[in-house]
Amino acid sequence: MAQTIPFVDLSFQHEPLQAQIEQLWRDCIAQGQFILGPHLAAFEQAFAAASGVAHGIGVASGTDALALGMRAAGIQAGDEVLVPANTFIATLIGILRTGATPVLVDCDPDTALIDLEAAVQNITPRTKAIAPVHLYGQLVAPQALKDFAQSHNLLIIEDAAQAHLAHRDGITAGSIGTVAAYSFYPSKNLGAMGDGGMVLTDDPEIARKIRAYRNYGAREKYIHQEWGTNSRLDNLQAAVLSLKLPQLPAWNAARNQRAEQYNAALAPLPGICPLVNHSGPGHSYHLYVIRVQPPHQREKLQAALMAAGIQTGIHYPIPCHLQPAYRFLGYQLGDFPNTEQLAGEILSLPMYPGLTAAQVEAVVQAIRDSVPIATHGSSH
Ligand SMILES: *Cc1c(COP(=O)(O)O)cnc(C)c1O
Repeated sequence: MAQTIPFVDLSFQHEPLQAQIEQLWRDCIAQGQFILGPHLAAFEQAFAAASGVAHGIGVASGTDALALGMRAAGIQAGDEVLVPANTFIATLIGILRTGATPVLVDCDPDTALIDLEAAVQNITPRTKAIAPVHLYGQLVAPQALKDFAQSHNLLIIEDAAQAHLAHRDGITAGSIGTVAAYSFYPSKNLGAMGDGGMVLTDDPEIARKIRAYRNYGAREKYIHQEWGTNSRLDNLQAAVLSLKLPQLPAWNAARNQRAEQYNAALAPLPGICPLVNHSGPGHSYHLYVIRVQPPHQREKLQAALMAAGIQTGIHYPIPCHLQPAYRFLGYQLGDFPNTEQLAGEILSLPMYPGLTAAQVEAVVQAIRDSVPIATHGSSH
């Protein structure tokens, strides 16, 4: 067996920055400012500016960014929010925390992104918003999304937790919706050394509300005029994120380059079908996902890759509507055929900045070796 190829390797990001991070943290400790400190304000401005949005509000996680962002945008009990059935469960949790009802929508099987044509069928007088998820690092088509929202008078809440600085058709993630939610979970494209999140918005009143919500509902200390909780991105994490942010465009480009290499090398293999990139270099490839057909081959391929020292993942094995905790929403098997089919076929291959061309080639070779129906250079 050759070397192990991990699914994600953060050492490439952290080793070059480690001395600077340690110095910054020493300075923070000396200053004694840990909550709502100067690094948070600086990072909020820098990340919002990089995304082309006016305001950034750092919160404790991506889940909180969704929940607080939607609440500040006016989503509440009685409202319905359209959301893809194939997303990470946190998108649903964010909606449910506002008291609103998530209304699930099937996906386009080529991209795994929400299918706006299917979404039309689910619009009711209570539909208040659509929460598109820029899944795996690819934006839902921005103009189609804006047209859809405008024609049905809906707010757009972007779940951009997998799409920091991703872009499509000249539009950057976070600049489409009324609010956009980000996560800085360590393995995201821009990751902290702990939990963290942010809401971006161009609306100053929404920004002001979220700043109050995250800080016990206090605009001034000990005066609680509105609903609140405790959800802040801490100063130490913001300092790390500020150091990493300038590297992010190059990291995203490196992911995109490796994805192009995977795409080209996997194209001739029967039964192996990469998800389609409609964004060219704007796809930030948080994850690199293939479909394996027929579906029962997926487990075999995953086991063969594991035996060859190659780690893979499945994002996500059980769609939201089939999760035990969400049965109360009333969905059942068969409701979202594309989502259900993808859940049985998808496999995420190693992807991170620092993954080398040789490693990608090793993964591809292991796939060639283990796909029984592969026809090496034959006339197929
Ligand atoms: C990671 C993620 C979240 C949640 O972010 P946390 O920081 O883990 O709370 C939400 N939505 C999507 C699509 C994610 O990938």
